Amino acid sequence: MGKVKYIVVTGGVLSGLGKGTITSAIGQLLKAQGHNVTAIKIDPYINVDAGTMRPTEHGEVFVTYDGGETDQDLGNYERFLDIELSKRHSITTGQVYATVIEKERNLEYGGKCVEVIPHIPQEVQRRIALAAKQSKADFCLIEIGGTVGDYQSVLFLEAVREMKREKNSMIFVHVAYLPIPKNLGEMKTKPAQHSVRELNSIGIQPDFVVARAEKPIDKVRKEKLALFCGVKERDIIAAPDTNTIYAVPLILEKQEFGKKILEKFDMKYHKGKLTNWKKFVEKIQNLKQEVKIGIVGKYFDIGDYTLEDSYVSVIESIKHASWHHAVKPVIQWLDSKDFEKSKENLKKLEQYRGIIVPGGFGGSGVEGKILAIQYCREHKIPYLGLCYGMQMAVIEFARNVCKLEGAHTTEVNPHTKHPVIDILPEQKKNIAGKHYGATMRLGNCIAKLKKGTKIWEYYGKQEKVVERHRHRYEVNPRYIEKLEQAGLVFSGQSPDRRLMEFIELPNHPYFAGTQAHPEFRSRPLKPHPLYLGLIRAAVERSQKPI
Ligand code: GLN
Repeated sequence: MGKVKYIVVTGGVLSGLGKGTITSAIGQLLKAQGHNVTAIKIDPYINVDAGTMRPTEHGEVFVTYDGGETDQDLGNYERFLDIELSKRHSITTGQVYATVIEKERNLEYGGKCVEVIPHIPQEVQRRIALAAKQSKADFCLIEIGGTVGDYQSVLFLEAVREMKREKNSMIFVHVAYLPIPKNLGEMKTKPAQHSVRELNSIGIQPDFVVARAEKPIDKVRKEKLALFCGVKERDIIAAPDTNTIYAVPLILEKQEFGKKILEKFDMKYHKGKLTNWKKFVEKIQNLKQEVKIGIVGKYFDIGDYTLEDSYVSVIESIKHASWHHAVKPVIQWLDSKDFEKSKENLKKLEQYRGIIVPGGFGGSGVEGKILAIQYCREHKIPYLGLCYGMQMAVIEFARNVCKLEGAHTTEVNPHTKHPVIDILPEQKKNIAGKHYGATMRLGNCIAKLKKGTKIWEYYGKQEKVVERHRHRYEVNPRYIEKLEQAGLVFSGQSPDRRLMEFIELPNHPYFAGTQAHPEFRSRPLKPHPLYLGLIRAAVERSQKPI
């Protein structure tokens, strides 16, 4: 392994361009060439991590194996590259400043005046090098969040600019948007030109410009953009809209982007290796039979981000599993408040082949979720409960099968007579002291599966499984016996048997819950077993008349 090579990806003109997808796709092209690739996401916000942000504000909180609460783009990198990233791969302004200030307080700057320049970029560089080294990468992609020209990303751009001192150590890929205004019907390059100029003013000259647009950029505009941006025409790469993000690596490869990148580093390229991926993309683009899956949650107050962003890993996991079963998923959002308004609305659930209640926090919409779960249990609709969705399933079972009236989680009702879901003992102090950041039960935890259970079977009869977690509450051990006696099966527990990790119901086509978030480990070509189980049951349900 030689020195790590860096590929910095910046964005221009608009946010929401799919920079994360482009970054992941570039990584995939290099991985297909046999290189070890890793990726880092830089986010210019002051939050130390994404864990304290509402998903409807910022998108999903992606949890890494080591318990990092990070940006959703890390999920893209993991899915495209089929790797596991640590929390080091997510860098925020908050982390950088917190370290610099701590070092200053510890006299680690040896009496110097600590300043924004050079100390902040130096800390950014230290973090980048550390993440790249930890992954033993040949190539490290660095995606800089936000849009060039934003005040808050300047220090990160300065940090990478300073890093490009040695020949062949770093290249820059600028992803810019090219609008096609309706009244003109013509693709315009001016905003992209300006965004490159903005980069130039910081001292960065892009090696490539990726032209994100509704359509592929044509020759005339390529020439224009090349001239104004100081980039060769062949180094302007078209990235038109696609019906699936998984087609992006193929679109880039057709333009020999991987080869061109390797040439910039004076490295050799070997032809074609994306054969499996090509087959996969062809398959998913030609599926006919649909399977309708409903996700029940509290949906309002969405702000700038869409629901898709808030649940991206869940959605991708549904897709991966559906494609494996050769069906096209149709995913719909069901507002749990609707069920609270009128029980009649529960009948809407009948048209779905499977229902998911995903992770969540707080009391809003909870009663509607519980009603929906009861309906799935009683009407044999395949159901998967993720974290909060499992906790709600336990509450539903306690209330309606064990007849524990008012059973609840103490997260919502601290005074419930039957706290079937209660706070983890070690979490009480955190809440009391308002220590909310990075204090949940986070990251990989082992669970032991009970032999002979359905979940044990879904997992290929493994006795020990590892999944990522993010929660403060658990099934209250005091109620386990009662719940079991009434028929709820706890199919997996923590190795010390203290925490219930999985539940299931016998005599149901598919009713499973997990305290974990299996969606973080699903990959396009390796769907997660719990999602596979749900979709298989959903497909079987589609074949039955209803
Ligand atoms: N709010 C619940 C808890 O903290 C569930 C969390 C989740 O769904 N991720 O335990």
